Amino acid sequence: MEKKAVDKFIKSNSFEHFHVFNNFEKNEIIQTLIELKKDLKKFSDNKKKIILKAIADISSTEEGDKIFKLKDNTIAELKSLDKEDYLEYLYHRYRYEIFPKAKEIDHYPPCLQIEPSSVCNFRCIFCFETDKTFTNKKNGFMGTMDFDNFKNIIDDAQGNIQFLTLASRGEPLVSKSINKMISYTNGKFLNLKLNTNASLFTEEICHTILSDTVKTLVISADAAEKEEYAKIRVNGDLNKIVKNLEMLNSIKEKHYKKSKIITRVSGVNFSKDQNFKKMLSFWNDYVDQIVFVKYNPWENSYLAPENDIDEACSDLWRRMFIWWDKKVNPCDVDYKSKLSVGVFENSISDIWKSNNYNTLRKKHLEKNRKELTPCKSCTVI
Ligand code: SF4
Repeated sequence: MEKKAVDKFIKSNSFEHFHVFNNFEKNEIIQTLIELKKDLKKFSDNKKKIILKAIADISSTEEGDKIFKLKDNTIAELKSLDKEDYLEYLYHRYRYEIFPKAKEIDHYPPCLQIEPSSVCNFRCIFCFETDKTFTNKKNGFMGTMDFDNFKNIIDDAQGNIQFLTLASRGEPLVSKSINKMISYTNGKFLNLKLNTNASLFTEEICHTILSDTVKTLVISADAAEKEEYAKIRVNGDLNKIVKNLEMLNSIKEKHYKKSKIITRVSGVNFSKDQNFKKMLSFWNDYVDQIVFVKYNPWENSYLAPENDIDEACSDLWRRMFIWWDKKVNPCDVDYKSKLSVGVFENSISDIWKSNNYNTLRKKHLEKNRKELTPCKSCTVI
């Protein structure tokens, strides 16, 4: 199975190594969702409609781009929740997956990414943090978010958005308020991800992460050997990362035995020299899931050559990014905010539905992404 998975990865340029649920387990979840339909009364008509559509899609044998299906990672996330939250989660998962394909928006983005820090302690070779015009403090891109600003964003998102990711351009754990920030999200989001290079773990942050706040912990890594790791994740030390993960796992074992947190290593597929087979067996000892994503020239967003892609970018219908200084951006490929759609004051919804955002969407839909920098050289679709 492993060989097949690795071959598939090399062919497809992206790879996901999740627990594979068998048909019995899948059917069990589908049956539970069908039974839960009796609890639909508490939802608004619009929510009901989407939940029923999602359940109809997953129960049918119909296939297609806009047909919602339960993937293994979705089942893993559902299983990490209380059953009473399944339908709410399903509603948001449907919005996350199908709205970008249907080019549909409603009042809030399906996913919000908040950037606690644009500063990073690493200089990974494919990352925009290697661009000195970005990291030079004088140019204004570097900073960490004030806790009060974070709080205002969370207060607006709570109840409207369930998929929240803490991270964007920098390492979130660089922020001195990160413990306070994570704690403030407690119980407010069904799908909270924290992306980190795991180099700055302390006992305190491990406890905060495991205290039923973070649902998925994503650790960036793309090598299984110290030397290779250090070449890619410049300033990083693989032994330190492994030690930190051992600390997290031991705290979990000791104090949070019932924790349903999902841990994932997420790497970038950018070189033929990467040994994916080795990485699978190495990281399997420390985390639940392993994912490698396709390389995009992040380190070179504004200088990369134009490409022929004219398909609309899914991120414009899926995600909103709010950076440490409250600037709102449609993606972090555009790490210098040339596409910025506004500044968060008190309404995520107003910006999501704004003329600025809609102008970007229109250009993409009309196959004119070539008129936008850096969309013209970006490979995201
Ligand atoms: S095409 Fe690339 S640069 Fe443009 S909005 Fe999408 S992710 Fe950002």
